[in-house]
Amino acid sequence: MSLFFCSLASGSSGNCQFVASEKTKLLVDAGMSGRYIKNSLSSIDVDINQINGILLTHEHADHISGLGVLMRRHKIPLYVTEKTWEALKHKVGEVDYNLLHLYDKIDTIEIGDITVQSARISHDAVDPLCYALIHGNRKVAIATDLGMISDEVVDKFKDSDLLMIESNHDIEMLKVGPYPMYLKRRILSEYGHLSNEDAGYITREILGYGSVKHVLLAHLSKENNFPELAFETVKGILEEAGIVDGRDISLDLTYRDKVGKTYKLLK
Ligand SMILES: [Zn+2]
Ligand SMILES: [Zn+2]
Repeated sequence: MSLFFCSLASGSSGNCQFVASEKTKLLVDAGMSGRYIKNSLSSIDVDINQINGILLTHEHADHISGLGVLMRRHKIPLYVTEKTWEALKHKVGEVDYNLLHLYDKIDTIEIGDITVQSARISHDAVDPLCYALIHGNRKVAIATDLGMISDEVVDKFKDSDLLMIESNHDIEMLKVGPYPMYLKRRILSEYGHLSNEDAGYITREILGYGSVKHVLLAHLSKENNFPELAFETVKGILEEAGIVDGRDISLDLTYRDKVGKTYKLLK
């Protein structure tokens, strides 16, 4: 029994994560073009027509832009909360309602042999969620697009094997950068995005429980961050606590426009 993970894309221009067991293949978010998602799945030897379902973190365009195409062309079912569906249904075009699995709250559902747990996060969307996906005794945790983290999320994530966490911006770069003031305030607010420092301290807290072996930094801003800066900031914060990349854990980046590393979490 293995759980596979691969980030197909992550960032403000599009998000799509692949999580699979041997039998069940899921996508978390569909925020790249249908063609990009199909080709990036091919690059890791997965046929898009084998995908069993799509989960969404929220309705922002960078998480749903390929959704309509995936549902129409490849008949992939969507698992979504009613509130999020209401907020996005006018953006996806005509879709087959038989593919739609609506939930009041997703909390815990089973899709094939993967257990999906969700928890509410703090972001300026109608019903934003983070996910933990479990197969056998392996668990992947995904949290992007959040302004802060709650104890509930830490609790859900603490026994994960792989943690994908947002490391959106460098606070100084954001402050002096080109964004208008209202947008800077939004990003920095508790309904915005996590900074590199936030990512470092949250990761350190979750690593304290001793389960996570792989950390992936996600949703990096193009304008307000550099991949090396995000990586070095988080690495430094972990080292202060004696946690060393390459010895205690693996720390890695995800990318805006290319497929990341594939992880196979063995039983
Ligand atoms: Zn986003
Ligand atoms: Zn968002």
